[in-house]
Amino acid sequence: MFVHVEKVVTGPLATNTYIVCSAEECIVVDPGGGADRVLARLGGRSVAAVVATHLHFDHVAAVAALTEAAGAPFYAHPADWAVYRELNAVAEEWGFETPDLPTPKPLGERLWIFDVWHTPGHTPGSVSLVANGAVFTGDTLFYQSVGRTDLPLGDWDLLVQSVCRLYSLPRNYVVYPGHGPETYIGLEAADNPFINADVCKTGGHRNPY
Ligand SMILES: [Zn+2]
Ligand SMILES: [Zn+2]
Repeated sequence: MFVHVEKVVTGPLATNTYIVCSAEECIVVDPGGGADRVLARLGGRSVAAVVATHLHFDHVAAVAALTEAAGAPFYAHPADWAVYRELNAVAEEWGFETPDLPTPKPLGERLWIFDVWHTPGHTPGSVSLVANGAVFTGDTLFYQSVGRTDLPLGDWDLLVQSVCRLYSLPRNYVVYPGHGPETYIGLEAADNPFINADVCKTGGHRNPY
């Protein structure tokens, strides 16, 4: 199925919210805020689901407003839902509120056109969504960076495993991260400064935290 990807940058931490649409319907990934702008961009197209790559506050602030306005279900990984409040303990320290969410439906191995990969490390329930030559990586893999693991329940060794698993995708896959510009699997596997493909082979990675 042909889909196209639109990006709206939302919320206080400049989260990439992605609107992924086929001819008939759309999925909204990581609505970090700006519900009105996301709805305006949707322009009345039907929303099959709202999905969070993980449950940090900056990826879910507009979930409640969007699911209500669009009448769409909300999906997240159960491993993050179980620790949602704990995961966001730091939000309050930073002066942000932890948003109230509708109870998510548990993400399984497939959603719509996506294969759902459980890629823990940044959070216990972080996922990456893979389809059509693209992967939505949330805060697991960025252009020339990787997700931080010094927040509550972060785990560097798991993050390394998850990023290395992403590098098993074809080199020409486009990476749509949770923050910052798009990149390619091949580019990051070659020279991501934190975890590259050599690190995956040798296990010689260093924990920057
Ligand atoms: Zn995060
Ligand atoms: Zn984030």
